[in-house]
Amino acid sequence: MKGKWPSLISGCNGQPDITKCKRKSSCIRCKTEILKDSICVDIPLAGPGFTNNRRYCISCFQAILAQTRKELDHLETSLNNSSA
Ligand SMILES: [Zn+2]
Repeated sequence: MKGKWPSLISGCNGQPDITKCKRKSSCIRCKTEILKDSICVDIPLAGPGFTNNRRYCISCFQAILAQTRKELDHLETSLNNSSA
């Protein structure tokens, strides 16, 4: 087996891109304004025939990370339970 392992994060839609905002935009979740040159997170969203970025502010991204961690924990627990 060569190369990188697929991951649940980078496998389907691509990795979140933590980046400096080039122009003023807003978080798609909480609608907070993201000012030029402040840090935002672009999460690629692949759809049929197109790729769209969803832009989040830092605090929404932290909530997304927390949720992701929770789901990972849940998967791990389910796996441990089913192999016990
Ligand atoms: Zn937000």
